[in-house]
Amino acid sequence: MITDERTATFIDSISGLNTPYLEELEKKAHAEGIPVIRRATQSLLKFILADHKPENILELGTATAYSAIFMATYGGNVHIDTIENYEKRIAEAKINIESSGFEGAINLIEGDAQSVIEELAAGAKSYDMIFIDAAKAQYLSYLPVCKKLLRVGGILISDNVLFDGDIILSRFAVRRRDRTIHARMREYLRVISEDEELVTTILPIADGMTLSVKCR
Ligand code: SAH
Ligand code: MG
Repeated sequence: MITDERTATFIDSISGLNTPYLEELEKKAHAEGIPVIRRATQSLLKFILADHKPENILELGTATAYSAIFMATYGGNVHIDTIENYEKRIAEAKINIESSGFEGAINLIEGDAQSVIEELAAGAKSYDMIFIDAAKAQYLSYLPVCKKLLRVGGILISDNVLFDGDIILSRFAVRRRDRTIHARMREYLRVISEDEELVTTILPIADGMTLSVKCR
């Protein structure tokens, strides 16, 4: 958490409950150690869904479909393509999507996010909103393809970009095994901020997020 723990906990505590189904699913995910979008990320997504009213959404990184079901719940009339490559999670995501009743709105695509988005781009697919929440080391290579897949005026969101604040550390203060991912995420933040087709804000909420609009 980047803001101090007490402030973040306070904000989360007044942000209200989600639907009982989502509350259950989130609890189960926490108990099983499955990654789910944090509360601050949820309220930002809720805001964007209400404000921007995206219809076609692409998500990279389904895990067990908590965030996809969340977007289907609060997005009104949405269609969500969501990509996951980890078999165990795919199996659980399928069960959750089915029991959520959103199987008509959520299309789970099995495979490596990079190859799947390239195929989608080749098929001239276009989205109103894209949520990047898959392999952090790959964000930089997802970006150009995601830009192609995003319509002008569309919103691009990426999650977990600040590593709980560790992004500001020098590479030597980062554990050796984390250095590559650290350098790549820094480069991603630089590239997305300087991109002339995007207007981007980096938000120090949850684990750090970027929010971009494709302006041309
Ligand atoms: N969006 C989910 C959490 C995603 S966690 C939620 O909030 O409910 C990140 C997920 O990305 C993990 O399940 C991981 O298996 C998946 N992932 C990582 N690398 C991937 C890749 N190359 N292709 C597809 N999925 C990937
Ligand atoms: Mg995440």
